[in-house]
Amino acid sequence: MDFEFTQEEKMFRDSLREFLQKEFASIADERDKKGPFSKEEAIDIMKKFKKVGIGLDPESLKMVFAEDPMLFGIFAEEVGRVWVSLLPLFGMSSIPAMFVPLASEETQSRLMPKLERSEFIGCFAETEPEAGCDTSNIKATARLEGDYYIINGTKTWISNGSIADVAFVGAKDSVTNMETFFLVEREVSPFETNELHKIGWKAAPTAEMFFVDCKVSKENELNTMMAKAWSDPKLMETLPISEGMMALFSQMAPFTALMTLPRAAMGLAAIGIAEAAFEASVKYAKERVQFGKPIGKFQLIQEMLYNMNVQIETGRLLGYKAIYAISKGSPEARRLSSMAKVYCGEAAVKVTYDAIQIHGGLGLSDEMPLERYYRDARMMTIPDGTSEIMKLITGYTILGKGFAAYT
Ligand SMILES: Cc1cc2nc3c(=O)[nH]c(=O)nc-3n(C[C@H](O)[C@H](O)[C@H](O)COP(=O)(O)OP(=O)(O)OC[C@H]3O[C@@H](n4cnc5c(N)ncnc54)[C@H](O)[C@@H]3O)c2cc1C
Repeated sequence: MDFEFTQEEKMFRDSLREFLQKEFASIADERDKKGPFSKEEAIDIMKKFKKVGIGLDPESLKMVFAEDPMLFGIFAEEVGRVWVSLLPLFGMSSIPAMFVPLASEETQSRLMPKLERSEFIGCFAETEPEAGCDTSNIKATARLEGDYYIINGTKTWISNGSIADVAFVGAKDSVTNMETFFLVEREVSPFETNELHKIGWKAAPTAEMFFVDCKVSKENELNTMMAKAWSDPKLMETLPISEGMMALFSQMAPFTALMTLPRAAMGLAAIGIAEAAFEASVKYAKERVQFGKPIGKFQLIQEMLYNMNVQIETGRLLGYKAIYAISKGSPEARRLSSMAKVYCGEAAVKVTYDAIQIHGGLGLSDEMPLERYYRDARMMTIPDGTSEIMKLITGYTILGKGFAAYT
């Protein structure tokens, strides 16, 4: 059993860590308080990320998702350590971005240059006011009229929604009543958005989205795009899908397979937040003197450090084990990524709580990053699958067919 990153993974982590420290560590606290990134700021950030290989063009996406999915986990953990609000910018933009090479020629001609120049912001729009965990209940519809689909529906809690050029929108085909997805460009198929505000991830835009008679080329529908890819091996190669993920497609529904990676990555981002809080706590426990000794000498403080540390170690192992399973196409990928999402998110909440406790009154100050870590950690147990749903998926994968709790 090998617990080490490869040389390439270590180099990726080190350069990313240095970059995040230099570009964002000193501004994260103040900037986060000011609320959601504007489109210009988001593009500026994406251009900076491109310098360390994190881009949305097909080549860059392949590196992070296909050649070595471990890199996405490292990205999530490192971003979590510094400023988790940055995570959805790349993570959620990558979903529509990966389908651009399969879209209509017109869409490609408009969007490929934006991907190359890192001027593309995208979102994945599935959740609706009445369909959160129960995505089978979505109400958005897509009606085929000639060469276009007409989409109607409301989405909510969509990361990047307010600043996205392109949304990957889930809607039910009005004839088949089956859900499918559409690449919707705001410029040619306008939609309205309304910013939502949250207790954490404050700089990450999140929006309600309104699609009213939104006209989209039928070539930009998921099944049509995938059929195009399957019929052309060269096009298939442009997709940032690892061999392991391909193997998962043969074992489970494509969407179920695809969600394994973001869930494991959300877990690792949560662990990143916990690590930052833990490191601050270790430092403070050595420096802060009460009753004539550093507080780190008190057993109750050491117990908190023990609890924090063991949860971080466990969560980190679980997160990377899940990604390892994904990269190998192992049937364990679904169980491990669901478990990682729950365990790491909940661990981050507990670790950041203890970090505040160790810092005493200072921990509650909004001049310290600890309150941001705490608020950001609290966010990690809901998006991309709530803890409850992740537990039910784990239960089902343990017990097998016939034991799905909510179908
Ligand atoms: C910051 C943020 C960003 C997000 N980004 C996106 C995005 O980019 N794209 C997108 O499509 N969505 C996004 N979401 C939506 C997110 O995926 C949903 O919030 C989540 O799926 C839960 O849905 P809900 O909020 O409607 O809660 P509900 O589904 O109403 O659930 C309420 C509670 O009931 C529990 N529950 C529901 N069903 C069951 C069950 N069968 N058994 C036990 N407990 C159950 C839930 O776990 C939860 O505790 C985002 C959400 C947030 C907060």
